[in-house]
Parts: sequence; C-alpha cells; structure tokens
Amino acid sequence: MLVAGIDIGSMSTKAVIFNRQHFCKAVSPTGWSPRQAAQQVYSQVLNQSGYSQEQIDYLVATGYGRVSIDFADRVITEITCHARGAAYLVPGTDLVIDIGGQDSKVIKISDEGQVLDFAMNDKCAAGTGRFLQVIANALGVDVSDLAALSKGQTPITLNSMCTVFAESEVIGLLTQGKEKGEIIAGLHQSVARRIASMVQRMGASSRVTFTGGVAINEGVRTSLEKQLGIPVQVPKDCQLAGAIGAALIAHDYSSQA
Ligand code: ADP
Repeated sequence: MLVAGIDIGSMSTKAVIFNRQHFCKAVSPTGWSPRQAAQQVYSQVLNQSGYSQEQIDYLVATGYGRVSIDFADRVITEITCHARGAAYLVPGTDLVIDIGGQDSKVIKISDEGQVLDFAMNDKCAAGTGRFLQVIANALGVDVSDLAALSKGQTPITLNSMCTVFAESEVIGLLTQGKEKGEIIAGLHQSVARRIASMVQRMGASSRVTFTGGVAINEGVRTSLEKQLGIPVQVPKDCQLAGAIGAALIAHDYSSQA
C-alpha cells in the first residue's frame, strides 16, 4: 500500500510518500501559487521515490493551502496532521509546539497522537517564522545563521510586541552599536516567551516536541527550554511533521477502504 501526504504551508510545501516502511520526502518554497507548489513538490517526491501518481492509493492534503489542490482524496486540518506526525516522530509526546512561517500552534495530544486541546496564533506575525525572517533581514543575515550567531550570547530584551515596531527597535539597537548576536538571542527569547504563554494555558506537560521550520533554529529551541524549564525535543524531520501526519492519516483511510 502506498500513501502520500502534502502540507502546503505559507512559506514551504512539503510532500511525503509512505510505503509502510519508509518515507520519501521533498520540500520546496510555496511561492505565489500554493496549487503550483503542491503539484511541483508532489512530482518531485514521486520522481525521487520511483513511483507513479497512479500507484498512490490515498493522498491527504493539509496546511493553509490545502483547499487549493484538486488531486487530494481528503483534506485534513493542520492541527490534526501535526499532532499525528509529532507523535510518530517522537513517541510519548504530550505537547506539540509547531512554529511555521505565518502561525504558531501548541497542541496537547494523547499517546496515539489524538488532539486533546490546542491554541493557535495566526493573527499576529510575532512568535512566527515571519517575525524571525523580518528581523533577520533587518540585521542583514539569513534565518539559517540565526542559531550560530546567537550561541552563548546574552539576550538583549526586545520590548516591542509588534513585528513592525520590533524591526525599528532592532535598527535602533544596531545604531547604538549593540552586538548582532545579543540582539538575535533577544529575538529568540521574544519568540520563546510568546510560545511559553500559549503553553502555560494548556496546563502541565512534560514531553514537549517542537516542529515546523522554526524548530530547525537551535537558538529558539534552547530559549524555549529556558522559558519552559523542561527539555524540548526536535525530531530530525521537524519541518515535515505535518506532511508525515497527513500520510499516516492517509494510511488509516486507505486501510479502512
Ligand atoms: P509553513 O509550513 O508555514 O510554510 P515552515 O514550517 O516551513 O512554514 O517554517 C518556515 C519558517 O521556518 C521560516 O519562516 C523560517 O523562520 C524557518 N526556517 C526555515 N528554514 C530554516 C533554516 N534552515 N534555519 C532556520 N530557520 C528556518
């Protein structure tokens, strides 16, 4: 049995094919057309795996662009797919923190990866990947360099809650001669504080898994650990958790058919 999951996010589109043993994976920028991105990344993962589209028994789409594709057998919300993917990647997870390009989610889950409760911020860029990208741009660095630049640095607390004001604040700090690394450490702390307040609303948890593209940034993970006072696990395929969850749900539907 062959199944597939596609997660069409605001920044990146992820596709996986699952043959019951292995996941074949592909990631590509979403760009201006979620539909085109989904088709392109799906073709990419099919090429890599050596399977044809006709061989796929069931395809589940998720992510903000999930409704824009017409070749999925089913569309499922991101919350459900991320929960399922995180529970698979880190068995025993009881809380998932997912930070993507345009939103952040905190999901309380059961051992089987069922959603028990969740909180989502999709109204404000602060506390999302977009916030990190805007500030990285103001600092003239790439998001992929943020972790290394801030490692071991003392955070400078950023007072602005809004992305636009935080950008001005950071430019002001640079003008005062402050170190980029300290500003970035403060940026990570600011994201972690926002997420920690969402986590606190979910009640006690001890096995936290961090997913989404922002989980690649080790600096955000360590700041989260400091804010929460507990370890935070980041699986290798953190950015693919939603697509993996979608493929596992596709597998369930396909087995029932
Ligand atoms: P979405 O699913 O909403 O499209 P992702 O989960 O792919 O978003 O996350 C995108 C975010 O991940 C970017 O805004 C960026 O902040 C962060 N990111 C992506 N790649 C990297 C990287 N190599 N290093 C650090 N951060 C990254």
